[in-house]
Amino acid sequence: MSVLSYIGIGANLGDASTTVQQAIAKLAALPATALRAQSSLFRTTPIDSHGDDYINAVVCIATALDAHELLLALQAIEAEHGRERPYINAPRTLDLDILLYGDHRIESETLTVPHPRLTQRAFTLIPLLQLDPFISIPGKGSAHQFAPGVADQAITRIGA
Ligand code: ADP
Ligand code: MG
Repeated sequence: MSVLSYIGIGANLGDASTTVQQAIAKLAALPATALRAQSSLFRTTPIDSHGDDYINAVVCIATALDAHELLLALQAIEAEHGRERPYINAPRTLDLDILLYGDHRIESETLTVPHPRLTQRAFTLIPLLQLDPFISIPGKGSAHQFAPGVADQAITRIGA
């Protein structure tokens, strides 16, 4: 049984666009997982952080990995890109977050799904809405109702 999961991707160190593209290829190559859709790449200004602009995207995967297995797989991809965590919200080469995992609601020590900041940040909400304007967030309803709340956050689409 596979589940549709939406993964938020962000990078703001080094060649961030290339890092995001490589991350998408690695997500597509995960065991028991298929890439279903990918958003455009977006450029965003750091929030609660500093440094260069971020490149962000969201992908939809169909996966038979359970949510915690998926989290470990994402962390392994982050580690391959040399992610360090010197302090909270430090610039990062690659950040991979589980935004949605089917209609599951998960609260564990290591995992909160839906991602708690999904609806508050343009860099996750806008690419998600590009993939599915009618998507619902378990426990919160239609994602699009949150769009006005992020309208003041700078985000531009790169290319198509
Ligand atoms: P950020 O919150 O900025 O993405 P990190 O990527 O450093 O920060 O993540 C910190 C921790 O968040 C991870 O160790 C992970 O266990 C936890 N976490 C909780 N929920 C999620 C989720 N939905 N997706 C990814 N990580 C999550
Ligand atoms: Mg993260």
